[in-house]
Amino acid sequence: MAEVLVVVEASQAAGVKKVTLEMLTIARTLGSPSAVVLGGAGAAAAFAAKLGEFGAEKIYAAEGDEVDGYLVAPKATVIAELVKSVQPAAVLLGSTQEGKEIAARLAIKLDNGLLTDAVDVAADGTATQVVFAGSTIVKSKVTKGLPIVTIRPNSTTPVPAAATPAVEQLTIAVSDTDKLAKVVERVAEQKGSRPELTEAGIVVSGGRGIGNADNFKLVEELADLLGGAVGASRAAVDSGYYPHQFQVGQTGKTVSPQLYLALGISGAIQHRAGMQTSKTIVAVNKDAEAPIFELADFGVVGDLFKVVPQAAEEIRKR
Ligand code: FAD
Repeated sequence: MAEVLVVVEASQAAGVKKVTLEMLTIARTLGSPSAVVLGGAGAAAAFAAKLGEFGAEKIYAAEGDEVDGYLVAPKATVIAELVKSVQPAAVLLGSTQEGKEIAARLAIKLDNGLLTDAVDVAADGTATQVVFAGSTIVKSKVTKGLPIVTIRPNSTTPVPAAATPAVEQLTIAVSDTDKLAKVVERVAEQKGSRPELTEAGIVVSGGRGIGNADNFKLVEELADLLGGAVGASRAAVDSGYYPHQFQVGQTGKTVSPQLYLALGISGAIQHRAGMQTSKTIVAVNKDAEAPIFELADFGVVGDLFKVVPQAAEEIRKR
């Protein structure tokens, strides 16, 4: 069975990200999954158990400052060389900022087609892809080279499949042009008790209707009761109600949780771009004509300052 390269998204602090486990699950329909770990010294050993748990048959490791000390260019070079030697059936990367940039560079290096924001990949390499700011779902296929596909986080449920991967260290041969942008400092995002926004199964988002920064406590409280993450519309972020790192939408993060609650959010196309593949959408808005209701599976027309505390009260009783 041909190998399928899965480019691992992980960090020492957070461990292997869920999107990696989703990619390993999807990779098994295409061939034999091999995880590619690009990181600091010891990264492959740290992640091996988790990667094996989700079916990685092999781990290719490129570790050390040559790949970890620079931005993405050396990583794309290392993967391109690996592709040339292994001739995999496909390469899967996360639809994240870094994953997409590596994928684009890789496609250029290999003169190869590229599909981004896929939510699934069939055994023949056909990707189900979300395009036009999330408004359209199409089936696409790479017509030149092998499928290089980025997978949107929360596209599928990771399914364990125990394997015992052997680790193979790669020779890192990067050029000076790969080293034009160096990492000078890493600042870890403050990790609270809530799940990471793009990986959360439940997201509770607040919009301009929340009114001010203080009122966002209402959103946080509901998110905590449901074990979810907090998101915000751009209007809420621009008004200073909530930090930009939590913005959902075209110029923010893309989320695809099981449940998305939109509180005081009108449902502008740029907001929908970041959340409309959510499995179930619930909206609370006092305006019955708000466009979010076109998208919502369940909607409450009402004042969120009355509806949300009542919902929280009911959840607390259970
Ligand atoms: P509004 O549109 O002002 O809606 C507020 C809603 O709250 C209204 O529907 C109102 O009825 C309701 N409301 C008010 N009070 C209450 C209450 N007490 N109870 C219940 N409901 C209440 N937006 C994003 O979100 N993410 C993006 O990434 C993004 N990127 C953009 C990129 C570009 C290039 C552009 C041009 C715009 C972008 N926008 C983005 C902005 C987008 O167009 C909208 O302006 C924004 O999404 C509106 O946010 P909102 O729904 O919170 O605010």
